[in-house]
Amino acid sequence: MTDNPLNKIELLKNAFPKLSDADIETLSQIAYTRTYAPRVDLCREGEIGKVLFILASGEVDVIISSVDQGEIVIDTLHPGYYFGEMAFFSESKRMATVRAKTACETLEMHYDHFMPIANRSPGLLGMLIGQIIGHFRRNDRAVISQLHNKNVALQQAYADLAEQDELRSQFIATLSHELRTPLTSIQGFLGLMNQGAIKGDSLKVAMNSITRNVEKLVGLTNNLLILYEMYPGAPEYDYLNVADLLVEVLNVVKEGAEGKLSPVTLDIPDQIPQVYADKRGLVLALRALMENAFKFNPKQLPVAVRVYPRNETTLAIEIHDQGIGIPSSEQKRIFEPFYRLEKEGSTYLFPGLGIGLTIAQFMVDRHNGRIEVVSTPGEGSTFTILLPTQ
Ligand code: ADP
Repeated sequence: MTDNPLNKIELLKNAFPKLSDADIETLSQIAYTRTYAPRVDLCREGEIGKVLFILASGEVDVIISSVDQGEIVIDTLHPGYYFGEMAFFSESKRMATVRAKTACETLEMHYDHFMPIANRSPGLLGMLIGQIIGHFRRNDRAVISQLHNKNVALQQAYADLAEQDELRSQFIATLSHELRTPLTSIQGFLGLMNQGAIKGDSLKVAMNSITRNVEKLVGLTNNLLILYEMYPGAPEYDYLNVADLLVEVLNVVKEGAEGKLSPVTLDIPDQIPQVYADKRGLVLALRALMENAFKFNPKQLPVAVRVYPRNETTLAIEIHDQGIGIPSSEQKRIFEPFYRLEKEGSTYLFPGLGIGLTIAQFMVDRHNGRIEVVSTPGEGSTFTILLPTQ
């Protein structure tokens, strides 16, 4: 316990500005100061409280505990605030725990010391009660609004967690499906070959199918690795002709589609500037967009690929499909890892892990470019890669 009358008077005046100087003087005689180390509880929820605290320096947290969420900090109090005032009305239980957030100093008054003074001076008691009630009301409003904010934040956190959980389960389900399909096919052919059931030309067909399925698995694994930026090898930049690149990508996509492709038109002017790019990265980005244009296009309507200068320093590579389209509310999120719009029970179920666009964005970002999406559900989508040419 330390005594510093000057400090006490000022603190009391600050806390109870409507009390007369004489009343402040009277209170200062029973008030004492204390110091608390960080993380020490000044008072605890549920305990009978007999002390009113005025915070002189430092910060304290007001904490309530809830059955399902543990401790919740509902407020942080700064110097000048007072708390524990219920103790002056009745021997009531503390409604919250107050814990030193930093080292702090308080001015305190004990009920047992206060009551004799109050009995002698009903005016002081009346004024003090009036002030404390006003304080209560303000405090309640602040606490309710704090609780409301916490509640909104918690609801959001729960919703985010539930969505992450759903994405995770969906990803595991699609990954197992995407792995199982080629594996089952390979297993089937190998089984038949082992039994000697495949001979002559059929052997070639079987070998081709096995090769394609192995390539699919390698592609999947590589995509997952790229996603986590673990792919070996740094990007290798060179001046590239976009027309050549697009033809190369189209051929790869066509091979993978086993002939089930929509017609494609290519509109590439003769004079387009070369781009300084990492071929492997750009191929991956173009491939992801191209594969989607064919995949999310169940009626196999024509796909149009166009290259044009967007302005003097930017080349645009546009891939337009007339497929199912994407609602505008989802057009940002589809670039997130594992995010897919296909839900069980949708009209169409399309294969995929939900990482193609994430990789495309990663690769295009690396070239200081960006991807634009314009899409209308039921009409189709246009994805445009914009690359700097200078
Ligand atoms: P995946 O194609 O493997 O599902 P992506 O990351 O490439 O993963 O795409 C994420 C999601 O965005 C897709 O599942 C699909 O719902 C939507 N999407 C992407 N491209 C198109 C497109 N051209 N048309 C319609 N939807 C698309």
